[in-house]
Amino acid sequence: MTRTETKYRSVARAIPGQRTLEGGGVEITRAFPTSQIEEIDPFLLLDQMGPLQIAPGQATGFPEHPHRGFETVTYLLQGQMEHKDSFGNRGFLEAGDVQWMTAGSGLVHSEMPGRDLVRTGGRLEGFQVWVNLPARDKMTPPHYQELKAAAIPHAQTANGGVQVKVIAGEALGTRGAIESRTPILYLHLKLAPGATHVQDVPGSFNAFAYVFRGEARFEGVAKPQGEGQVVVFGHEGDQISVSNPADQPVELLLIAGEPIGEPVARYGPFVMNTRDELVKAFEDFRGGKMGTIDEG
Ligand code: MN
Repeated sequence: MTRTETKYRSVARAIPGQRTLEGGGVEITRAFPTSQIEEIDPFLLLDQMGPLQIAPGQATGFPEHPHRGFETVTYLLQGQMEHKDSFGNRGFLEAGDVQWMTAGSGLVHSEMPGRDLVRTGGRLEGFQVWVNLPARDKMTPPHYQELKAAAIPHAQTANGGVQVKVIAGEALGTRGAIESRTPILYLHLKLAPGATHVQDVPGSFNAFAYVFRGEARFEGVAKPQGEGQVVVFGHEGDQISVSNPADQPVELLLIAGEPIGEPVARYGPFVMNTRDELVKAFEDFRGGKMGTIDEG
């Protein structure tokens, strides 16, 4: 009798993110889009904010800007972010919190450092992912899900070698709390030296990892992948194996999702299916149809 051998999804591409400035001058590493990766359907963008050491009075953020046609997922690791939008929503993110915003038909919002961080300075670090919406959902009304750090399901192996925060999807038998329109896996993994994690990922999902501390090794590439590396997986197999070959912990995001497979027309903060829809998005924004932020 032969046993079916597990085949891990191997690395198709490993590409460094690009350091740049975004918003009001925040230092970020843009995992994608870059000249080498346009998108990883259904994901349109991944930015790592910082990590930054901010001097008192020097904090900058992302002042008033619009979005239409997709969802933004903000995951803060360190610091504070204050969120305001043109529908009167207010949010406050602290270390470990997640905000899942469905921009849908459009809004104007600002994402700025919290008052304490501005006054006293401190560390700022976080991630933002853009998840595309299929044509039928692009004009859905804006919607929020906010999760405080304590409400994010987490799990670990018996010896603590693998720790995972399950923002969406499932890992180590634990289900995430976020309901996304497009089926998504979003994990924050931490592996002790020598530890290995094997993650189920549906074969139909596009999948990638982003390493942000230490070094990780993936199936099919001997060389460990260090901080700022975007690792895109191939489609053979339905598991991903990641291990820590170094003597320091490694931390990474492992993100996967069902591709939408529709044409993408994008310009700045708008992501639609056609050029005409982009023009309409600009007209609606300029005409005030996405509203303005009431600072009162
Ligand atoms: Mn934004």
